[in-house]
Amino acid sequence: MARPIYLDNHATTPVDPLVLEMMLPYFTEQFGNPSSAGHSYGWEAAAAVNQAREIVADSIGAIAEEIIFTSGATEANNLAIKGVAEAYFSEGKHIVTVQTEHRAVLDPCAYLETLGFAVTYLPVQPNGLLDLEILEKAIRQDTVLVSVMAANNEIGVLQPIEAIGKLCKAKKVLFHCDAAQAIAKIPLNVQTQNIDLLSLTAHKIYGPKGIGALYVRRKNPRVNIAAQLHGGGQERGRRSGTLYTPQIVGFGKALEIGLAQMATENQRIKNHRDRLWENLKKIATIQLNGDLEQRLPHNLNISFRNIDGAALLLGLRSTVALSSGSACSSGKPSHVLQAIGRSKAECAASLRFGIGRFTTAADIDQVAKAVQQIITSLQQIRINT
Ligand SMILES: *Cc1c(COP(=O)(O)O)cnc(C)c1O
Repeated sequence: MARPIYLDNHATTPVDPLVLEMMLPYFTEQFGNPSSAGHSYGWEAAAAVNQAREIVADSIGAIAEEIIFTSGATEANNLAIKGVAEAYFSEGKHIVTVQTEHRAVLDPCAYLETLGFAVTYLPVQPNGLLDLEILEKAIRQDTVLVSVMAANNEIGVLQPIEAIGKLCKAKKVLFHCDAAQAIAKIPLNVQTQNIDLLSLTAHKIYGPKGIGALYVRRKNPRVNIAAQLHGGGQERGRRSGTLYTPQIVGFGKALEIGLAQMATENQRIKNHRDRLWENLKKIATIQLNGDLEQRLPHNLNISFRNIDGAALLLGLRSTVALSSGSACSSGKPSHVLQAIGRSKAECAASLRFGIGRFTTAADIDQVAKAVQQIITSLQQIRINT
């Protein structure tokens, strides 16, 4: 039996074959430890890591010294938030973030609350966007950090990063941005957008899992973070642990491909997304989640009123692999959809479509048809019972 069409590209993406090809020699022949400064095995690995570090830095307008490799965006977010909290606690113990952030931002913040920090979790507007006036009012004398994501992983909305950066700079508060869903999808520049710390990951952009990075600003201002992993002193003592050369090389290559294709891919993917939405929006009980304009072209997120979410997912399972409005691990209703006003039942009857590099027009048509069919049959059941 054919596998379902993959439309869960916000959860993860396959490794691009060109990325894998680039990684392979670093598992075997060029296996050296990049920290081994005394022989050519180490030098080869260090050269490969440096090259990837340049690519990562370039992709966001930073310099190589500002990049710390981590195991992914979860670790980068933890290092940014806990690292800043620990380094600046004598200046203030207040953090501002948003209710619709990823759990890898919300949970480190909640952890800091148990240590005596205060955290403000800002609401969003019904379209999923943060209101800048509300943010400005939330910043206090003792605020040290504002953490707002660039692109939301569930509803794809793009927060006004540049304006937030400007506000934080004016208020002399550090600005951290989780850009896991944004890198290679929208232009990012830590200079023009006034970002002080930025989290990245490779596996959402056709790179390998288990590798990401944190950008930490070195000038205007120089940002300090307290290390969260102690040991061999790699990454200038800010993140110990032997550098994972193959993954780092793969991250660099994935970024290179993603950036080169960004403009053309965004247009192609937007055409698919718009076609899907045109087909689905005729359904009477449908609701769009998140702003349609300030949004990643890759994302469509919809809820249905008066539809049994479990039956909906079951009905689609063999046709399409996607995520619903209940976090897969817990079955709990999505905190993002709840923050934009969806009920628990609507969360359960929600679908997140993540369109990617390997999605075709035929995939889109097949998925649209499957959704229309299952909704019609579920509405039929309601009428008959
Ligand atoms: C996927 C994701 C993360 C977690 O990234 P990992 O590399 O899997 O740890 C964090 N934030 C956002 C917005 C994400 O989409």
